Amino acid sequence: MEYWETIRIESPAPGVARIILARPEIRNAQSPKMLYELDRAFARQAADPTVKVIVLAADGPDFSSGHDLDADFSLPCGPVATLQAGLESDGIEGHYAFECEAYLGLCRRWRDIPKPTIAQAQGRTIAGGLMLLWPMDIVVCTDDATFSDPVTAFGVNGVEYFAHLWEMGARKAKEILFTGRSMTADEAKLTGMVNHSVPREQIDEFTLALAATIAERPEFGLRLAKEAINRGLDAQGFSTALDSAISLHNLGHANNLARYGRLTHPQGADRIRADKRR
Ligand code: ZN
Repeated sequence: MEYWETIRIESPAPGVARIILARPEIRNAQSPKMLYELDRAFARQAADPTVKVIVLAADGPDFSSGHDLDADFSLPCGPVATLQAGLESDGIEGHYAFECEAYLGLCRRWRDIPKPTIAQAQGRTIAGGLMLLWPMDIVVCTDDATFSDPVTAFGVNGVEYFAHLWEMGARKAKEILFTGRSMTADEAKLTGMVNHSVPREQIDEFTLALAATIAERPEFGLRLAKEAINRGLDAQGFSTALDSAISLHNLGHANNLARYGRLTHPQGADRIRADKRR
């Protein structure tokens, strides 16, 4: 029996694996430890021939509150998922390598898992939390769920897996990024970011039924359908745009470092707290 510190793995139905973020006391804030445990769990489920569909769920009131800023960021956190150089370097050189690996790199791996994946999100999903949600193929949320990326307050363009344009369309993405405000479940459904929103007490059952329905189909057909859609997104420029956005994101970090001696704008947290009180 493998020991997991930040997640749990369940087998709730034949052919369905459920990975659960299990740090509700800090609203499933993601540390490098959690990201690499998650990566290992996804790799395990991808390789397991008895698993056809993977659900990513979360304990507690919220799906994920984003990056855990108090976490230990010293590498290595696990086997490096991308071929990076300069991870140990100072300045933006090391930070860029870290973000290409632990944020963009891991999200890409999860987006291309050759099996259907479903995110099940209750409550709030904030900033880095979106990077757990968006790489999944289908999103089910509670009808009281909210989604936000307020990090322009930190002097960067948005979270490191910059899929906003594809998830909500250009105009909505700009508004959400410019204001930092939360989107409701209904709004997220309208933009196509969310497939279904259901009452909180029904979300486990609803998501499991959806996963079980998918698991009845042949795995290769499912894999080919997923690859066809993902390749289509890439043909539209998805991957190229994300590569470009992580460079701009690190230009933001570099600017903060040069002007304020830190990676994020010093008033960022205050700005976000003030917006919440509004
Ligand atoms: Zn960053």
